[in-house]
Amino acid sequence: MKFLKGLLVLAVFVLLLLGAIFWALPLKGSIPILMYHFVVPEKQVGPTSLDVSTTLFEQQMWFLKTFGFKPISLYELHAIKTDRQEATGREVAITFDDGNASYATYALPILEKFGFPSANFLVEESVLQELHGSMDLKTVKQIAANPIVTLGSHTRTHEVLTQMRLEKVVDEVMGSKLQLEKAIGREIHFFTYPTGQHDEEIVRLVEDAGYLLGFTSSRKYLHEKETLFSLTRYKINPNDNLASFWLKLAGITDLVQRLKYSFRY
Ligand SMILES: [Zn+2]
Repeated sequence: MKFLKGLLVLAVFVLLLLGAIFWALPLKGSIPILMYHFVVPEKQVGPTSLDVSTTLFEQQMWFLKTFGFKPISLYELHAIKTDRQEATGREVAITFDDGNASYATYALPILEKFGFPSANFLVEESVLQELHGSMDLKTVKQIAANPIVTLGSHTRTHEVLTQMRLEKVVDEVMGSKLQLEKAIGREIHFFTYPTGQHDEEIVRLVEDAGYLLGFTSSRKYLHEKETLFSLTRYKINPNDNLASFWLKLAGITDLVQRLKYSFRY
């Protein structure tokens, strides 16, 4: 009997401890930035690691709402990062790369249901030339008017910036901003590096072009000090369940990767 009582006390203690960890993480000040690409119905989920099913996406948004997370716009993220707004510790940012048509068709209606803001990073040529799979200009203009949508630039051509001449990098970074602003009729303040690859010079060009924040995705840069123009995001995979989603959200996946990295090098 005494043993059972002890076991019960221990179980309650462990549960309370886990609950406390669950609520305490992510730590105040570390705002998780989620990265998605394509949100599509279950039947359309392909072999690519970029597809997330609408079912999974809706569950993840439900999880954020249920556990008191507060999705914020990139403007709010910028205000917090530059100490003009105080963080509560429950903020999270939701971003999409590539301007795929599935954003307007499938992701946005779910985000609207929850009232969650998000950002989509457009590839200028894909939008203006109406390339297959991309949102066309008409759709982009429509969603740009939605207060929960922020649009950013993901360059002109989606080529890797570290593998091109400097003048071409300038054109990709600055040219895409100007062209998208002209076409959409709104200012573009945020930027993502194709495949996440960047270097110091490219980061400086992004800052000089007048962007407020720049985002990466590559885990290769974990050893570098994060700046406003090299913010790391957590890629959400097709096979993420709610547990692994929380581990990413809480910063635990990131911590493990950083530890692995520091042991290796
Ligand atoms: Zn991309």
